[in-house]
Amino acid sequence: MTKMKRQDLPPEQREVFWVERLKGNERQQFVVYSPTLWGCWTHYNAAKKETTPCYEDERFCHGGHEIETMRWRGYVFAWSKSRMEPVFIQLTPGACRSWLKQLAEGATLRGQLIEVWRTKSDKGRLLVAVNKYAHRSNEAMPQPPSPIKSLYNMWHVTEVPHLMRASVVEDEKDLPDEFPNTRVG
Ligand SMILES: [Zn+2]
Repeated sequence: MTKMKRQDLPPEQREVFWVERLKGNERQQFVVYSPTLWGCWTHYNAAKKETTPCYEDERFCHGGHEIETMRWRGYVFAWSKSRMEPVFIQLTPGACRSWLKQLAEGATLRGQLIEVWRTKSDKGRLLVAVNKYAHRSNEAMPQPPSPIKSLYNMWHVTEVPHLMRASVVEDEKDLPDEFPNTRVG
């Protein structure tokens, strides 16, 4: 006699999710799935309005590893009440600092009901307010996937790095992690 193959959470259908970047005067509510922030460094090219990832191996940084163009971004996986689907929320250092200050030490982000909004313009301050705290991690919620594929998709990072084309990188294992060979999503 064999048992039924059981799984209580429905299988996730996607690897690439929408990355929510709030515009000026926008206000949205989310239920947070991630227990902690996931952060990374990027480079922002203001002339091209283009964001690209920053790598530990700085030879991969598109357009060069310039300190002045470095921007930190924090991400959490969350249910978007306005889109009615799970998304990654992109947050600024200031938004993350103010969010973390609202929490008791060791508190999980998972299960929190938060409101995120941006003041005035698209360059206005991004703010996070906790409307409801979670008291324990909710086992029935989906586990957060890695945001890397969603970020590469948003940044349109679809090409093999320029240095690989120039044969500077000889071994594939030297490539950035989860680097997409083809366009995703
Ligand atoms: Zn860099």
